[in-house]
Amino acid sequence: DEKTMVDVKSMIEDVVVLLQTQASLYGITISVNSFSNKEIYCDRSQIKQVLINLIKNAIEAMEDNGYIWVDVSYTYATCAIKVIDEGPGIPHQMIEKLKEPFFTTKKNGTGLGLMICNQIIENHQGVLNISGNKDKGSTFEIILPIM
Ligand code: ADP
Ligand code: MG
Repeated sequence: DEKTMVDVKSMIEDVVVLLQTQASLYGITISVNSFSNKEIYCDRSQIKQVLINLIKNAIEAMEDNGYIWVDVSYTYATCAIKVIDEGPGIPHQMIEKLKEPFFTTKKNGTGLGLMICNQIIENHQGVLNISGNKDKGSTFEIILPIM
């Protein structure tokens, strides 16, 4: 793999620039909240691919209009990036199936996106947490070691 020290804020900005135009067509705004910034040791293009998959899923899950929030936070050893949407959320019994290959609820879905995300995150000794939000929508959180 191609791991280097990667500036998290600029990596996320790259992804948002890539997807905001598409999101805007549906009246969706991608909003990044990161109060601090760090470098983490990772494969930049692979983690970008993970974020692209998660944000594309969020766009596809939402009806027109609303927000996708990308929340970044750190501990001394980890970086957590949450992608929070205002879609329909995920039925509790479905959460376990999402990382399996070929699981899709979309007419033209491949069901491979989250499996690939999970594989990339595991290759980084990280975790991908999936949960429904209390009010509406869902949260996909990746936690990566800084080193
Ligand atoms: P695909 O996008 O091709 O369906 P994924 O692996 O990316 O494959 O996602 C698998 C399934 O997980 C989707 O078909 C959808 O049912 C569910 N899913 C993924 N992201 C979200 C989300 N943000 N909100 C609700 N459901 C989601
Ligand atoms: Mg997908």
